[in-house]
Amino acid sequence: MEQDLAGRVRVVLVEPSHPGNIGAAARAMKVMGLRRLSLVAPRQFPHAEATARAAGADDLLAAADVCPTLDAAIAECHRVYGTTARSRSLRWPALAPRAAAAQMLALPAEAEIALVFGRERTGLDNDEVARCHQLIHIPTAPEFGSLNLAAAVQVLAYELQLATLADVALPVETPEAPPATAAQMQALYDHLERALVALEFLDPDNPRQLMPRLRRFFNRAAPDALELNILRGILTAAERARAEADAATAGGPPAAARARSAAEER
Ligand code: SAH
Repeated sequence: MEQDLAGRVRVVLVEPSHPGNIGAAARAMKVMGLRRLSLVAPRQFPHAEATARAAGADDLLAAADVCPTLDAAIAECHRVYGTTARSRSLRWPALAPRAAAAQMLALPAEAEIALVFGRERTGLDNDEVARCHQLIHIPTAPEFGSLNLAAAVQVLAYELQLATLADVALPVETPEAPPATAAQMQALYDHLERALVALEFLDPDNPRQLMPRLRRFFNRAAPDALELNILRGILTAAERARAEADAATAGGPPAAARARSAAEER
């Protein structure tokens, strides 16, 4: 018995009329790890166009179950999901693919699941919908709600893959450096304030919202200890350059005033 979800999901295409769509659906499945395809009374199958559009997923086509009826295709399934382009009456509320995938993941590990897709032109009929435990509707633009059959298979297969991956704990990446502590951040802000005053960017008599805005900016960036050291190094270099410039023109006007008059001369 298959424990993984992908191995327990059977994609059922009801009376597909275009062999190209069968191939494209197989490809859409295989890229997302789905393997089991059932075809209910396909108009043309096998077909060169199906093989061509499968583009390497022809093993799924070769292994496909060809059934005379939907009942035969879903006979072994415990849970049947039907996909529909139309939102039908209230009697058949539909889930979005993401919610449906989460629900499938929560089913018992032995549950065999059918994911049923309708005909290109007319979708699933009422008798077929009545066989589904749950309908799924892919939300679309209101005025154009019908996806190509294989595109609809792709959306559902992707959501199943996403839900399965989200369920597996991903390995935690080892950070390059530990996050900065509150004390280190405070030391940065103190240093920044001193440097900005020395550079005459911040007027201590009229500070406005400069420091709170800079705090907000750096907090948003959440720097690590290494990045914090770089910032502190830049501040130290700026302070030193400023002190050297002031020493070189000792007695002359402050650097900012010099910069201003230079700008005015231009
Ligand atoms: N005119 C048909 C459209 C069928 S499209 C109808 O109104 O039902 C072929 C199949 O692709 C549908 O039966 C369904 O299985 C799937 N499909 C297309 N658009 C979909 C959507 N928005 N949500 C869910 N399934 C969709």
